[in-house]
Amino acid sequence: MRLDQRRAEAYLKLAMSRCPTCRSEARPRAQNAAFPFCSARCKAIDLGKWFTEEYRVPGTPLAVDQSSEESRTGDGNPEQPEGEPDGV
Ligand SMILES: [Zn+2]
Repeated sequence: MRLDQRRAEAYLKLAMSRCPTCRSEARPRAQNAAFPFCSARCKAIDLGKWFTEEYRVPGTPLAVDQSSEESRTGDGNPEQPEGEPDGV
């Protein structure tokens, strides 16, 4: 039994995870409420990153690109200096 526990501890040490935010060692979940991050601060930082990227991908570019492209296509008609030959 004890041996198993030791093995488990050794394994835990080997598999000690690193904080995805600052790359320092993150304590096991038992001692660390912010697991797998090293601290609550790093957890908050990573969450903020995800939020930002989520906003970027589906939201901003789609809405902006579509509306600007549509308005461009619509306004493209009156502008035709090359399409109107002078006939000369
Ligand atoms: Zn960290």
